[in-house]
Amino acid sequence: MTAEPAGSVPHKAFDTILTLDFGSQYTHLITRRLRELNVFSEMLPCTQKISELDFTPKGIILSGGPYSVYDAGSPHVDPAIFDLNVPILGICYGMQEIAYRADPDNVIAGTHREYGLATLKPQMINSHVDRLFQGLEGSMRVWMSHGDKLAKLPEGFHTVAISENSEYAAVAHGTKPIYGLQFHPEVTHTPNGTKLLKNFALGICGCEQNWTMSAFMDQEIERIRNLVGEKGQVLGAVSGGVDSTVAAKLMKEAIGSRFWAVLVDNGVMRLNECEQVQKDLSEHLGINLTVVDASQQFLDGLSGIEDPEKKRKFIGSKFIDIFEAEAKKIEEAAADSDRAGKIEFFLQGTLYPDVIESLSFKGPSATIKTHHNVYATLPIIPALCLCLIEPLRSLYKDEVRELGRALGIPEQLVMRHPFPGPGIAVRILGEVTPEKVEIARRADHIFISEIREAGLYNQISQAFAALDPSRAVGVMGDKRVYGYMIILRAVTTTDFMTAESFEFSWPFLQRVTNRIINEVHGVCRVTYDITSKPPGTIELE
Ligand code: GLN
Repeated sequence: MTAEPAGSVPHKAFDTILTLDFGSQYTHLITRRLRELNVFSEMLPCTQKISELDFTPKGIILSGGPYSVYDAGSPHVDPAIFDLNVPILGICYGMQEIAYRADPDNVIAGTHREYGLATLKPQMINSHVDRLFQGLEGSMRVWMSHGDKLAKLPEGFHTVAISENSEYAAVAHGTKPIYGLQFHPEVTHTPNGTKLLKNFALGICGCEQNWTMSAFMDQEIERIRNLVGEKGQVLGAVSGGVDSTVAAKLMKEAIGSRFWAVLVDNGVMRLNECEQVQKDLSEHLGINLTVVDASQQFLDGLSGIEDPEKKRKFIGSKFIDIFEAEAKKIEEAAADSDRAGKIEFFLQGTLYPDVIESLSFKGPSATIKTHHNVYATLPIIPALCLCLIEPLRSLYKDEVRELGRALGIPEQLVMRHPFPGPGIAVRILGEVTPEKVEIARRADHIFISEIREAGLYNQISQAFAALDPSRAVGVMGDKRVYGYMIILRAVTTTDFMTAESFEFSWPFLQRVTNRIINEVHGVCRVTYDITSKPPGTIELE
């Protein structure tokens, strides 16, 4: 049994633009761009009932979407948005929806589909309707992706911009703050798109640019204190990764040692990682940390498992067993201490992209998950009967990093590359043995140290060395030897959905290769993986 979860709710404290999603692949970019402008924005599915909102947005954006508004079964927004008396901006499908609401004959299938760049010419008619284009009087490049179009202007609207193919590339109501764009301002292919969104959020909606991580930090610490109470205690797993470190430090600031962090050494962490994380979290950040050395249990259990999924499953379930046992011990210890009461909460580092994923509109036939259902899909530990506390669930990764800086976490920790939960186990193809873990660890350590040394760490999104257990032949000291192959991988990406391999200089790769061959016993070939994602993935298993 899990009680009501406790994610942060910035819309209660910060001016908020509500973005309603009609299923476009770009919707999350709208919220991102607004937040880059220090304006908080939250996404909900287009089916959201306005009467069920627990806040009043300063403005609403209707996203694009793959449907045609005039088709039976296409999604439509709750008409109550028009009674909220807040500014509305429709983007592509969103604009077509506004026009269709006024009169279904307003939207038709166009004869020309328009995908790609177009040149937009703002018309500059009067100060009300042109507010969106303030400071953007000249022609500009915009990115279009549509087949439908407005057949005529909805009543009361004006054309504020045209393109070669779109008579109604941008429209605005003559007196009400309702705007529509046929193109996508949220994508980088529309270079001035952010200025348009800024004009909407600041000039038209009147949002304050108060969404900063230091403001969020203060507000969140306060909220956590109120939620947990004077005696409540919170338990959480940490890995040394950015998310769990930032969440743990936030908890520490809020409730001190009534937050209990647990680090499980699963035997497949990187070289010296467990000691390093212990030092960073406990000594430097002052977090109340318990380290559990379960490496032997993990390595024993991994023996003989070759299938990647089975490895992942084994590590996941073993982790829960160990964590649960540790939680019980901590609960007993905590109950004895006079500083506090029962452990009632479990900290989880869920980020906004996971939330967005479960809130995005999946199509008219899909079951629409409600805001609340998001929580039910998360991997909680039922036996602990704890209530989830998720301070990062409204943040993007770069915001988490910024929050880490606001909390005084050193740059090196804030900028750490992601590391998978099953660790090195999924960087060893096939069966994991202590010998292979050691080899992969040492090779990885050399690769990462050289990357740091060359000043490349922050230019790369994720880098590691993996081990291919195939035996390759080599000649070392005139002797024929057979050794494992090391696969180096380094990628750059903004969202980890797509990625490119990083272009190292030849001397750099030679240096790393020489060092690995010379310093890591048991390796006789080093390769560099230049596969992009897709079709590859970032990790090898
Ligand atoms: N389906 C609509 C069209 O083709 C909307 C597309 C969009 O929102 N990108 O015009």
